[in-house]
Amino acid sequence: MKIMPNRMDRGFYRYQEEFEKKALEVLRSGWYVLGKEVTAFEEEFAAYTGAKYCVGLASGLDALWLAFRVLNIKEGDEVIVQGNTYIASVMGITINGATPVFVEPDDYYQINPAKIEEKITDRTKAVLAVHLYGQASDMAPVVELCKKYKLRLVEDCAQSHGACFNGKMTGTFGDIGCFSFYPSKNLGAFGDGGAIVTDDEQIAKDMKVYRNYGSEKRYYNKVVGTNSRLDEIQAGLLRVRLSHLDDLTEEKRRIAARYFKELHNDKILLPRFIEGATHVYHQFVIRCKERDELIAYLDEKEIGTIIHYPIPPHLAEAYRYLGFKEGDFPMTERLAKEVLSIPMYNGMTEEEQTYIIDAINGF
Ligand SMILES: *Cc1c(COP(=O)(O)O)cnc(C)c1O
Repeated sequence: MKIMPNRMDRGFYRYQEEFEKKALEVLRSGWYVLGKEVTAFEEEFAAYTGAKYCVGLASGLDALWLAFRVLNIKEGDEVIVQGNTYIASVMGITINGATPVFVEPDDYYQINPAKIEEKITDRTKAVLAVHLYGQASDMAPVVELCKKYKLRLVEDCAQSHGACFNGKMTGTFGDIGCFSFYPSKNLGAFGDGGAIVTDDEQIAKDMKVYRNYGSEKRYYNKVVGTNSRLDEIQAGLLRVRLSHLDDLTEEKRRIAARYFKELHNDKILLPRFIEGATHVYHQFVIRCKERDELIAYLDEKEIGTIIHYPIPPHLAEAYRYLGFKEGDFPMTERLAKEVLSIPMYNGMTEEEQTYIIDAINGF
C-alpha cells in the first residue's frame, strides 16, 4: 500500500460541493481582491479564535514579518524564539533587521519557559512563541515573563489553528497571533494565505495599511508597505473549511488516539503533553535514535514521512552571519536528528492506519 505523508485531495473531496459552489460564486462575482469574502472570513476567524480583530494577509510569513514591523521591532532589537522552529518564524524577525535569540525547546518541542529569562537583555523587545506541530506552548509562564519585562508577545500559530492553553486559543495570549493557511496546514486554503489576530484596534488598523502598499486611502501612502492581501477566492474557500474545522480537528484527534493506543516500539518516543495544552495534530511527530534507518525502512514499505525540520535555523546557510556553530543548541540539534512526522491527515482510512502502525511496530 502506498501512503503519502499528507493527502490534501481528501480534504477537498470531502466538501467538494461546498468548495466548488463557493469558488464559482467568487469567480462570477467580478470582485477578486479585498471584498466581502475577506471581510466575512476576518469576522468569522476572529470569532473562532476569540480575538477582537483579524486581518487577512497573503501568507504566514507575511503575518510574522508584518507583526514585528507594526510593533516597530527593528535593527538592534532582539526577539527570543525557540531554536527548533520552521525557518519562516526566524525570517519574520530578521526581515525587519532584528536579531533572533534562540532558546532550547522543552520536552514537548515548544519554547522552554525556564530558558527565556537568562536570554533577556536590554535589547530584548519581544518573545515569539511557536506552537509547534499543533500543540499549544506552556503559555502561563511566557505571558508572565513578558509582563514582568515589558516585552511584546507574538505567537506563531501556523500549525496550531484551534489549539488551546487553559481553554484559551493560541494566538490570543499576546499582542499578535500569526496564522498561515498554506494548503497543508490544519486550516488550509487552495494556495497561499495568512492572517493575524489581535485585540488591539490600532494594530489591526496598521496591519490593514501595511498589507495594501501602506495606504488607507487610495493613492495616499503613509508608510512603505507591501502587497499582502488575502485573495477573495481563498477567503471564500477558507470560510467553507473553517465551518468544518472542529470536525476536521476531531478526526485528527481520533487518528492520533489510535496511534497512541497501538504504536508499541521501544525504539520510538511518542508525543507528550503539556498540562493545560491541547493538540490539533498538524503533525504527529515521533522520535527515534535510528531515525534515518526508520525512514529507509518505511520508504521500502512505501510509507512517506517528513522531517520537521532537518536543519535548525541557527545552522542554516541563510543565518551563517549570526555566527552560530554546531553544538550551540544541543537539544535543538538532537531533535533535528531524531524527529519524524508520520502520516497524519484528514481522510486517512482505517486500513491505511493499520498498515502504518504494523509497519512501525515491526521496525
Ligand atoms: C508554515 C509555517 C510558516 C509560514 O507560513 P507560510 O504561509 O508558508 O508563509 C511559519 N511558521 C510556521 C511554524 C509554519 O509551520
